[in-house]
Amino acid sequence: MWSCLKHPLTLPTLVFFIMTGVPSLAQDRTASMQPSVARLESELTARHGEQQRPRIQRGLKQVAEFWRADDGDAVAFEAFTRENFAGDQKSLDAMFTRFEALLEQLDGHMTEIGRVFRNQTDLDLGPIMPFDEAFAGYDPSAHVNEDFFTNKLAFMVLLNFPLTTLEQRLGEGTQWSRRQWAEARLAQRFSRRIPADVNLAIAKAASEADRYISEYNIWMHHLVNEKGERLFPAGLRLLSHWNLRDQIKADYSDPKTGPAKQKMIQKVMERIVTQTIPASVVDNPRVDWNPFTNEVKQSTVKDHDLPASTATVHNDAEPDTRYAVLLETFLASRKADPYSPTAPTLIARRFNENREIPEERVKQMLIQVVSSPLVAKVAKLIEKRLGRPLEPYDIWYNGFRPRGKYTEAELDQIVAKKYPNADAYRKDMPDMLMKFGFTRERAEMLAENIVVDPARGSGHALGAGMRSAKTHLRTRVEKGGMNYKGFNIAVHEMGHNVEQTFSLNLIDHTLLQGVPNTAFTEALAFVFQGHDLELLGLSSPDPRNEAMKTLDDFWGAYEIGGVALLDMQVWHWMYEHPNATPAQLKEATLAMAQDLWNTYYAPVFKQKDVVLLGIYSHMIHSFLYLPDYPIGHLIAHQIEEKMKKAGNIGSEFERMATMGSVAPDLWMKNATGSPVGAEALLSAAEKALAAVDTGKGL
Ligand SMILES: [Zn+2]
Repeated sequence: MWSCLKHPLTLPTLVFFIMTGVPSLAQDRTASMQPSVARLESELTARHGEQQRPRIQRGLKQVAEFWRADDGDAVAFEAFTRENFAGDQKSLDAMFTRFEALLEQLDGHMTEIGRVFRNQTDLDLGPIMPFDEAFAGYDPSAHVNEDFFTNKLAFMVLLNFPLTTLEQRLGEGTQWSRRQWAEARLAQRFSRRIPADVNLAIAKAASEADRYISEYNIWMHHLVNEKGERLFPAGLRLLSHWNLRDQIKADYSDPKTGPAKQKMIQKVMERIVTQTIPASVVDNPRVDWNPFTNEVKQSTVKDHDLPASTATVHNDAEPDTRYAVLLETFLASRKADPYSPTAPTLIARRFNENREIPEERVKQMLIQVVSSPLVAKVAKLIEKRLGRPLEPYDIWYNGFRPRGKYTEAELDQIVAKKYPNADAYRKDMPDMLMKFGFTRERAEMLAENIVVDPARGSGHALGAGMRSAKTHLRTRVEKGGMNYKGFNIAVHEMGHNVEQTFSLNLIDHTLLQGVPNTAFTEALAFVFQGHDLELLGLSSPDPRNEAMKTLDDFWGAYEIGGVALLDMQVWHWMYEHPNATPAQLKEATLAMAQDLWNTYYAPVFKQKDVVLLGIYSHMIHSFLYLPDYPIGHLIAHQIEEKMKKAGNIGSEFERMATMGSVAPDLWMKNATGSPVGAEALLSAAEKALAAVDTGKGL
């Protein structure tokens, strides 16, 4: 990559220079090509006319910035630009249209290969063989960017279409046409030139982290208290952290036995975060474990059909694997830094390129939520409703959720009966979608574009990439049928699938397929998920339910806001300590988790040094994804308010989702009239609280 430099620099120096901005390597390289650039600027301007000069200057500069010695000498550079500059609108249109159509095919087919190669690891299909893992870890698109520079297709784009900065997209972008946005997205695909071996290393770290997380089950019947009692039913296997957290939520419906179970799960979570969990209890129903004393024994009950094991029973702690896995994702990500000059850290890539909301602005929005004076008021209300002081696990309080008279067990029964298998869910999709207000025609079109598969993990949604392919909804179905947790997640994932279908199949430019960033796809999925009980015919929206739901949203944003701030801090820490050991990363993470807790949570929970904010699995395997959730909550609230006003989820969902991948604030202004922000949620929460104070029956 850097072979064209006269004085090759070592990587750390390189990163330092890029981060401090001087001297620019791109400038160096461009300088050596200056005679060729100047010659071609005159020549092409003479040929295509003075009005093309700005495009010519820009195109030559962009190509020169990425051109390496092995791409060809000055003669080759000149010949290339001479031959490939589209000097009139007609040839530019032809080029744009063809690139758009062919890149759709490329993306779509790569997605299909990736999906099928991961079937064995993603779906509930039995044992995973070593070769399955190798297939799952293989990313067929890893070489595409490099190939496109080698065969010069990337240079053709860079010669003809504009690279843009975040500032331009946030500023000028508000005035761009749809075509201009599509051109900006086309050029952005080639704003980095990351070598294939680096992309493969990242894919491998991601795949290993996924596997570590997807097998991190706790067999709940094997948790025992000091009296040797088992609080959870036989066969219950919960995936950390999703199912554990959701079990805490579910246990609010049973005030008698709930708190003991919730306390026990909190202890399990703390053991995972601090890595004092015995390694032998992870995904192992052959042993019993008291998470309070950490005692492990051979189990006296059998609620599984796994083969017997001769492994000796012991309580040796998991050897900081959680943090070793996280560290590997960091080390792999960092390899891409030198090849991404405009965003030289994963943190910068996440915020400036993926989210297109500056990190500082995200941080401010999150702090606005977690430090809101409303927190103490809502906390007081929760204590009143619970009739006891708050416990740390009450960050997952879900008693504001309108659930009528149904317990989790009853909901499980209702769902299992309705959806004994994934196919039953598939067949019901058109009806479910019509309950959201889609017309029959739309509902059927959407359902036809969603394939339902039984998932190995908690569930996820996979977009299609090309219009001839379908989206996939992966959902977890237990042996006795789907349970309520699985249904709730499936409805969320179905929201993703519907967004994916609209934003690909019904959009004007496939180059704009998708949404501005993943927080938006989460926001749209939250809208679906928030109405899951209505799909079961168990509740309908009324003012009381809506106020409750707002308080639930607020409390959820407060919880996940701290989790996201921790994720951001951990990534900064890793960048500041690139040689850290897993044990050091663990110590630092625990300290930061406690510090955030002590600042924003301890004042209302009245307990210090709690580490629960560190339990999210995303922190380990999702490369700084977590901030998307709280942003998603804020965005979801803005969106839902708008849908409420319009009186129809279906038509508004379609209108918003077909806007595609433009800048976040632009999308939101078009969708709701305001840019992205916390104000909508905070003012709604305040109103909901006021309704409580005036005694309107909450
Ligand atoms: Zn989601």
